[in-house]
Amino acid sequence: MKINKLETFTKPFVSFVKITNDNGDEGYGQMSTYNSDITAQIFHKQVAPWVLGKTHDDFENLENLILEKEHKFPGSYLLRAIAGLDTALWDLKGRIEKKPVVSLLGGIPGKLRVYGSSMKRDIKPQDEADRLKKIQDNQGINAFKFRVGAECGRGIDEWPGRSEEIVKIINKNLDPSTDKLVDANSCFSPEQAIELGYILQDNDVTHYEEPCPYWEPEQTLKVTNALKIDVTGGEQDCDLRIWKDMIDRKIVNIIQPDIMYMGGITRTLKVAKMAEEKNMKCTPHAANLSLVTICTMHLLKAIPNAGKYLEFAIEGEDYYPWQKDLFLNNPFKIEDGKIMVSEAPGWGIKINPKWIEESNYTISEIN
Ligand SMILES: [Mg+2]
Repeated sequence: MKINKLETFTKPFVSFVKITNDNGDEGYGQMSTYNSDITAQIFHKQVAPWVLGKTHDDFENLENLILEKEHKFPGSYLLRAIAGLDTALWDLKGRIEKKPVVSLLGGIPGKLRVYGSSMKRDIKPQDEADRLKKIQDNQGINAFKFRVGAECGRGIDEWPGRSEEIVKIINKNLDPSTDKLVDANSCFSPEQAIELGYILQDNDVTHYEEPCPYWEPEQTLKVTNALKIDVTGGEQDCDLRIWKDMIDRKIVNIIQPDIMYMGGITRTLKVAKMAEEKNMKCTPHAANLSLVTICTMHLLKAIPNAGKYLEFAIEGEDYYPWQKDLFLNNPFKIEDGKIMVSEAPGWGIKINPKWIEESNYTISEIN
């Protein structure tokens, strides 16, 4: 079958892709969130022209062709756009074969444990503890990630003492069986990161994400080697050479590719496989309730080296107004701390027609 038509439905934060083949089969995907209006332009200018009219049986070959043809643009935006193509291709394949993507990947649908992921740093430690406790009581989630340091903070905390305080307060307030994760978003020097790392170890935190600037792997490696807990990272990385180095040298203990930043499922699987060969777990980055979380659910139920849980953003409309009403039949229901990976074909989702109606429409097709 050949790709006949590529349509995009775009708002500034989200852009969905619809693919249609010459048999009239359809699939839906999504490009990476944020600046999706820019990404959609790249999609129609630098992705669609290379794949229209091509057969769609070999996703990797097709995507490599784009990267070769656009080899002067080895960057994030091109991959963010390719993610839209790749996730639409997997959905198309699922719909044709009447299987969920998880099954195409060799896994089985069903329940998946989540960790509640806080995005807020301006929240006071006690308020964060109260908020997480409430979510724990209401939804049964028994793993949470909260923020330490300041985002790319050059060693300066959000306010003096916040990181130490929040680590201790969260540990005191949540049920002792709760898995506790922190994210420093590239804040600290190795020395600072290790010092806070000892406090994390003493307070039962088991996952220490991006302690140092992620573009400085030697710094991160110092922290990984100094601490007993898992140092994790990789969410921004999308170059396979960087991944190979990060995995070969065990810069981190757990890898965290983002399916949408990576360019889709196909390239993320390659990274997960590299990690599997070195006995490393994969706990992907999925920081909002758009298609990235759905895709990550399917992936985690299929790969043998899946980490313990799915990242599940707990923020609501105040933080993420743009993620409201993207899909019909809420695919993000949590019960007893678990989410359901559906048996429906493809991604098993229905994009809200009202959202589509309000979006910006562009089409690339074979003349
Ligand atoms: Mg992170």
